[in-house]
Amino acid sequence: MNDGSSSRSLQDFAAGKLSRLGALSLRRSVAETTPRGGAMVERDGRALINFSFNDYLGLAQHPEVIDAAVQAARDFGAGAGASRLVTGAYPLLQTLERRIAAFKGTEDAIVFGSGYLANLAIAPSLVGGGDLILIDALAHSCLHAGASLSGAHVEIFPHNDVDAARAILQEKRAAHSRAMLLTDGVFSMDGDLAPLPALLALADEFDVWALVDDAHGFGVVGADGKGAAYAFDPPACAPLQMGTLSKAAGAYGGYLAASHAVCELLRTRARAFVYTTAPPPAAAGAALKALEIIEADADLRARPLALAARFCAALGLPAPASPIVPVVLGDPDSALAASRALAEAGFLVAAIRPPTVPKGTARLRITFSAAHEEAQVDALADAMRTVLT
Ligand SMILES: *Cc1c(COP(=O)(O)O)cnc(C)c1O
Repeated sequence: MNDGSSSRSLQDFAAGKLSRLGALSLRRSVAETTPRGGAMVERDGRALINFSFNDYLGLAQHPEVIDAAVQAARDFGAGAGASRLVTGAYPLLQTLERRIAAFKGTEDAIVFGSGYLANLAIAPSLVGGGDLILIDALAHSCLHAGASLSGAHVEIFPHNDVDAARAILQEKRAAHSRAMLLTDGVFSMDGDLAPLPALLALADEFDVWALVDDAHGFGVVGADGKGAAYAFDPPACAPLQMGTLSKAAGAYGGYLAASHAVCELLRTRARAFVYTTAPPPAAAGAALKALEIIEADADLRARPLALAARFCAALGLPAPASPIVPVVLGDPDSALAASRALAEAGFLVAAIRPPTVPKGTARLRITFSAAHEEAQVDALADAMRTVLT
């Protein structure tokens, strides 16, 4: 081990930073947690019902999805071997892209290593210095990261505030060449929807390219589970529809559904596509099978939102727009204490703290999945009543 002075100063920095975060109840740790089928997990030898995962349709544990992952690994290998531009793509990946495009109703789709990578790829491929990006204050961290990476001038507008976004465009649009507007379709920590019809009309008015991240809408929100855009009538489809295969699809990988020209430009220029290894065959095989199940099973798609609505009705909370229900408690200590009390009662409900959510809004974030039984949802509602009083 190197114990020179630079290594010591690094050590001091890391240890000091951790202890300051610990004092603020903002230190995090990874708990070993074993899936035990359905929504059950085991942690520290105890069985818990998981109300924190994003496996909204239980497909990560679905036997046919698992078999498809195994088969894809047998057919094409454990890893992809290189970037697709270097060695070409195994056939499943092209099929997956075509299936995603068909599901989203776009000309084309491009699959990335993850949703995070997709958002690092998209904005920097389309805008740069001299351009403008508007982004919702509560948009996912990776949309913000993609915006900074692009080098464009970034303006953050208050959450879902179309008038504020308009005011920024009136002031700044003319001075910039290209412009983008970035938002979640379903907000990951609040579960609410973006006002897509108004945002897209605004984007058209000012010639701004809208990128909607529908990581939490894909498969579970809107007509046919097609996402937040289809929660509106008529559907409000952005020209850049991004999402992930890691949540409702139960697999791994991110995607952009868009026109053929946009997807081809990204295949040619996006660094997070060109300079990274293609997703592993097992992930693509699983995602493809999951997509088949999502398209075929309307009852499955409807179940997470129905269970969230059942829970909200039991607790007198407003009706949910997605399977994500936040219970905001304020300070990190209260959120941690509530999460611990629920764990004692047999429920895994994670406390979400800053910087994942704004200061003063630490919360329990409860997610509902087709893998939950009605009785488990009712039991959580009872436990929440006790914890919150
Ligand atoms: C989870 C999430 C991502 C990242 O997707 P991964 O596939 O997990 O990398 C992107 N955007 C939103 C809104 C998310 O919730």
